[in-house]
Amino acid sequence: MNDVATENENNYKTLQLLLNTLYMISETSMDRDLITSIFKMRLTSILGFTPQVEKCVQCGTTEHITHFSIKDNGFKCKNCSKVDSGAVTMSAGTKDAIKYTIMAPAKKLYAFNITDECIKEYKLISKIYLDEKLEKEYK
Ligand SMILES: [Zn+2]
Repeated sequence: MNDVATENENNYKTLQLLLNTLYMISETSMDRDLITSIFKMRLTSILGFTPQVEKCVQCGTTEHITHFSIKDNGFKCKNCSKVDSGAVTMSAGTKDAIKYTIMAPAKKLYAFNITDECIKEYKLISKIYLDEKLEKEYK
């Protein structure tokens, strides 16, 4: 992307995200791994890989969303994920957390909590997603 306005806006968003994240790490007792995972997910989105988090990225249904597709950037329903080897299972809590991470205003990004079980899934998905999308892009 060579558009200067977009680039500036993304720089601003990235800096804002970084400052919010540093604040959370130094001033709160929120789980560090969760903070890092939220950071990764939001950063990947800012840098051009905003996942589809409102419906199945393949068929468009909002029912039975059970997976996150790394390959197709977003949520997938039970049926569509069967033929997607890169789809990672997620529970309802993890799904809500990912959706929140993508949609929340910058200042409220860290204003949520999830169970330990969901943190595990969230960590896995955000790690794979960032690695897959950005490693190739920024090598
Ligand atoms: Zn589907």
